[in-house]
Amino acid sequence: MPDPLGPLSTGILAEAERRWDLLTAADPSLRRAVDLQRGLIGRSVQLFETIRTTGVRAWPFNLDVGRLRSKLERGVPLLRDESWTLPVGPLTDALLDFCRMLEVSGAGASAAHISQAIDSKRLDAGSLLNASLARADCDIRDGAIQLGLAPDLLWLTAELAVSPYAYFLQRSLAASLPPDVLSTWDRGDCPFCGSWPALAERLVDRRVLRCSLCAAAWPAHSGCIYCHEHGDAFSSAAIDRARPERLLETCGACGGYLKALVSDRPLDFPLAAVEDLATGDLDAAAAARGFRRPALRKLLSAQTPRPS
Ligand SMILES: [Zn+2]
Ligand SMILES: [Zn+2]
Repeated sequence: MPDPLGPLSTGILAEAERRWDLLTAADPSLRRAVDLQRGLIGRSVQLFETIRTTGVRAWPFNLDVGRLRSKLERGVPLLRDESWTLPVGPLTDALLDFCRMLEVSGAGASAAHISQAIDSKRLDAGSLLNASLARADCDIRDGAIQLGLAPDLLWLTAELAVSPYAYFLQRSLAASLPPDVLSTWDRGDCPFCGSWPALAERLVDRRVLRCSLCAAAWPAHSGCIYCHEHGDAFSSAAIDRARPERLLETCGACGGYLKALVSDRPLDFPLAAVEDLATGDLDAAAAARGFRRPALRKLLSAQTPRPS
């Protein structure tokens, strides 16, 4: 069994490069977006290595399996309402780097304003990062508006910085749990962090959902992952008949959509982000048909950190 706290496989990074090359060869207009993502993911992988190799091995979880099963049965994601100390220093360094990369890649002054708010301590990076990991989207957006920052960009930059740590927690926790623990989870949101999946993967023998934040994979129930619709209102179809491996799942009952890829191998961190970019045309097709990704599920939480 591979070391759950070992490095990312070089094969995964080579696969990311291969997919970026294919993407820009098929559509040269995506080169700028691919270059930006290459930089962002390179920094994410570097942050993951920092987290993995420096002092976070003291595992913060109470790994009582009965307790964790009970959380899942109550619909509470495993990483929610746990107490640990976020490695704020390395995550903030990465957050500022992400702001700089976005600043020179089109986000301009909006990204610079976030860096300035953090540098001047008007925005507390630790509160922001904890709120992101707790998926407190309304709190982050309210905090952004109060500070005159772009809400979507603040959400994105915090998510970029938190994602490698969420992946580290998810990967470590998954390696410590009996394999059947997730069997009671039949929800569309992630059993670890509560995010919606970036996409569904249709592997040879099963359909799994891939988390957009922590890169967890979990079995998908059939039909709409958001509202369980099984009837005629749910459909799954290829937008481009020449590319039947790329599907759009839409639901007329709740208005939600999900991208699905027929894949011969799991899209572990950071490949799902690459495929998410590569399937931007499916997002556009869904939006043109009036479908959207729903808001995150609200949970009553014992601790809802607010950015301040
Ligand atoms: Zn997750
Ligand atoms: Zn639905």
